Amino acid sequence: TLNHSRSEALYSDALEHIVGGVNSPSRSFKAVGGGAPVFMERAEGAYFWDVDGNRYIDYLCAYGPIITGHAHPHITEAIIRAARSGTLYGTPTELEIQLARMLKAAIPSMDKVRFVNSGTEAVMTTIRVARAYTKRNKIIKFAGCYHGHSDLVLVAAGSGPSTLGIPDSAGIPPSIASEVITVPFNDLDGLQQALARWGDDVAAVMVEPIVGNFGMVMPVPGFLDGLCRMTREAGALVIYDEVISGFRFHYGSAQTYDAFPDPQAIEPDLTALGKIIGGGLPIGAYGGRKEVMAQVAPLGPAYQAGTMAGNPASISAGIACLEVLQTAGIYEQMDKLAVKLGAGLKRLADEHGIPLTINRIRGSLSTHFCPSPVTNYEESQLADGEQFARFFRLMLEQGICLAPSKYEAWFLTTAHTEADIDQTLAAARIAFQAMSRDS
Ligand code: PMP
Repeated sequence: TLNHSRSEALYSDALEHIVGGVNSPSRSFKAVGGGAPVFMERAEGAYFWDVDGNRYIDYLCAYGPIITGHAHPHITEAIIRAARSGTLYGTPTELEIQLARMLKAAIPSMDKVRFVNSGTEAVMTTIRVARAYTKRNKIIKFAGCYHGHSDLVLVAAGSGPSTLGIPDSAGIPPSIASEVITVPFNDLDGLQQALARWGDDVAAVMVEPIVGNFGMVMPVPGFLDGLCRMTREAGALVIYDEVISGFRFHYGSAQTYDAFPDPQAIEPDLTALGKIIGGGLPIGAYGGRKEVMAQVAPLGPAYQAGTMAGNPASISAGIACLEVLQTAGIYEQMDKLAVKLGAGLKRLADEHGIPLTINRIRGSLSTHFCPSPVTNYEESQLADGEQFARFFRLMLEQGICLAPSKYEAWFLTTAHTEADIDQTLAAARIAFQAMSRDS
């Protein structure tokens, strides 16, 4: 097994100064049996090196933004260039127009764009804009879809498919949670019921058009088409949260992906973006129909601002990242490796009698330790967390870095190679052997 002594020492230091020792709870190892998370020191291409000198193949990819591999030279150069010219002006820059143009060209439903600093901010603001535009208050979301940590979207399902939400976090007033209705993903009847009951008060229906937050989950054919139709009939807006799906599957988003099951449902009123469009620096963006975006200050009455918004460093990194992603064949290469990885994991799990459901969407996949398909959050919860935790540890000890959660996706980058996949599958064979011996 690997030596993690320096990570362990840093973790006890971190616990003294940083709440829980981590700056985002998803980084803690709480869901995989606890203990010190691995402290990384350096990353390049598809690899991480930790503070004890161990090397890992990275499938965490910072929860999505890293798609060209770490420290990609073209992006690094862009960031250095930006830093040399001053990192923050508080004035408009030409660079912002360039990235906005690139986003609009790839996602035509966005007539107008506004840059912010995170996916959370982007989503939070789409809700405010939808409320301003419709003059209504409630929103409908889908169980298990994560939309950042703002009050309104940190609300879980109530007890039935169309009940008002209960807060998923302390510190959220019940009065706010009562403005949110949660229905199961892929459940048009549930949505219909919610709209029948609350439709006149609903400002927007918010959805990850391709889910990345309880594994990778495709909408079933007809779901998004029905969602868009019913939502508009109710006089509400459709918001696509494409913070993960933007530029992840192809150069564009879920709404412009040619394998999207519902080609009619490609024009949401508002879209939220983040992650990849910042090339590894902090960013978020939202945009949509001109009339709807006209609500936003200084044009309209819906206020949204940001000291760091559109900063030249993040924007430069984003432009450089999208430039790399325009390289011909780059998504196909990730796709091909993910096919091999997914099929290999499934075959090895089968050989060792371990139930495993792989959902793969191009260069991303999820691994649920359960025999049944995962098409919504409830089904994803059937995955065995203890088995995942064991697998996670066994892989980590062989230099394979996954997200420490049974729900998270594995992400491929343009830097991963066939040899990396072979090494990962060899490690998975050993992990599954150990797991089948345990049981
Ligand atoms: N929406 C989705 C779909 C996400 O996956 C995330 C983050 N994982 C967010 C919003 C929030 O983004 P951020 O962490 O940048 O605030």
